[in-house]
Amino acid sequence: MLICAACAVERDEPTPDDCPICTDERQYVSQDGQQWLTLDALAQQGQQTIVQENEPGLFGIRTEPKVGIGQTSQLVVTGWGSLLWDPVGYVDEHALQAVRERGPVLAVAASHPHMFGVQVEWSHRLGGVPVLIAEADRRWVGRNDPAIEYWSGSRTITEGLTLHQTGGHFPGSAVVHWAAGAAGKGVLLTGDSVYPNPDRRSIAFMRSYPNHLPLSASVAMRIAQQLGELGFDRIYGNFNNVIASGAKAVLQDSAQRHAAWVRGDFDHLT
Ligand SMILES: [Zn+2]
Ligand SMILES: [Zn+2]
Repeated sequence: MLICAACAVERDEPTPDDCPICTDERQYVSQDGQQWLTLDALAQQGQQTIVQENEPGLFGIRTEPKVGIGQTSQLVVTGWGSLLWDPVGYVDEHALQAVRERGPVLAVAASHPHMFGVQVEWSHRLGGVPVLIAEADRRWVGRNDPAIEYWSGSRTITEGLTLHQTGGHFPGSAVVHWAAGAAGKGVLLTGDSVYPNPDRRSIAFMRSYPNHLPLSASVAMRIAQQLGELGFDRIYGNFNNVIASGAKAVLQDSAQRHAAWVRGDFDHLT
């Protein structure tokens, strides 16, 4: 297994000359060209994992220095087991111990293919727990494994913890709804289809972030309408970007604003 240095998604050997995820229009190949990493080489370079509590029952796991895109994984812990979301592109005993001591892992899942990380490696190290992949994004799986299960629409992990496919950034893009999060007001964990902005009071809806390609008005509105039916007050993105409260209104307002801009309502300002 090799790991793409740019996106940190694992891939079966022999690897292709270029990473399919990075050559897609949503990402990019580094000026230095395609490079592949191994877990051993990263460990020898002093790679570390950092685990931090975001709120009771929710733990961020990130790599220091960052591996690939550098997302923060989220471990959602419930009384029935946990979900590892957007797994990072590296795994070590420190992170595994932090995950294991918080109870059994029910599944590993990612918001979209940029966030696959070393998902199968995490599964193996956790005893072969299911790796959930949206059927619509099957073609982006780089490392095949019997632990992979395909799903569509919505998928209940356990009581109060559900994946919802929204599409958008990728056709299989998904969010997690965690009903008990934010002191019972509800939490969404999102990827790039619903991206909390640096201002912490608005959300972006993009096909590509590095290459600045927006989604359409109708797709932004569709996603906001779908998620508006869930109960939540807080949204965590996958880069420590958070809408701490009032997130449902922020999502609706942001979709309206996005739609207005891409529709041309504000062309007089340009
Ligand atoms: Zn890549
Ligand atoms: Zn992405």
